[in-house]
Amino acid sequence: NTFAEIDLGDALNQNIRRCKYVKPTPVQRHAIPISLAGRDLMACAQTGSGKTAAFCFPIISGIIKGGSFVPKPRGSRTSYPLALILSPTRELSVQIHEEARKFAFQTGVRVVVAYGGAPITQQLRDLERGVDILVATPGRLVDLLERARVSLQMIKYLALDEADRMLDMGFEPQIRKIVEQMDMPQRGMRQTMLFSATFPKEIQRLASDFLANYIFLAV
Ligand code: AMP
Repeated sequence: NTFAEIDLGDALNQNIRRCKYVKPTPVQRHAIPISLAGRDLMACAQTGSGKTAAFCFPIISGIIKGGSFVPKPRGSRTSYPLALILSPTRELSVQIHEEARKFAFQTGVRVVVAYGGAPITQQLRDLERGVDILVATPGRLVDLLERARVSLQMIKYLALDEADRMLDMGFEPQIRKIVEQMDMPQRGMRQTMLFSATFPKEIQRLASDFLANYIFLAV
């Protein structure tokens, strides 16, 4: 079982080889085909399981295959990412961003990170240069939405990483506000992946609110 056997596309496969990934980890082996098939997914995965690649690969592959990069309208300061990866902390967001950039190397897919507790100016500049995949913490993203610097109307892929930790940190209102802005033009346009180490009632409720006809994966 190798990545070459999964239909991720040549450009991404080349980057995977460059990262020296040969064999998919268990969560990758199961989650990637489910996502490539277009299904929503709720996955039980711990840190170190390889979950970052599990949600990044289908997103990058899908954006490349879709060929639908969204140019920013001239003069507009609003960015329209195609994919959103929400993560609880600055550290995790930075880590996801670094990995995603390696996976997206020379594909034309642009990855930007935005987190709180740091000046917003550089993040605004990064967004202005164009973004296909936005990695963000919930609080900072709400700020960017309120400033109309980001629109979620074109989002096709949503990944929630460490969802249980985001709820523990009190981000549920922000997450709900964020997802509410994505339910257009049609619910069916968005594909959602929810990753969590634990599955308390609160996470199950998020899953039933945000995911459609999802597959549950525990590895
Ligand atoms: P994660 O759980 O996504 O934080 O990944 C944990 C570590 O494993 C990271 O350093 C990844 O770069 C690495 N990794 C993830 N998937 C693979 C793979 N299929 N082969 C080798 N290393 C991997």
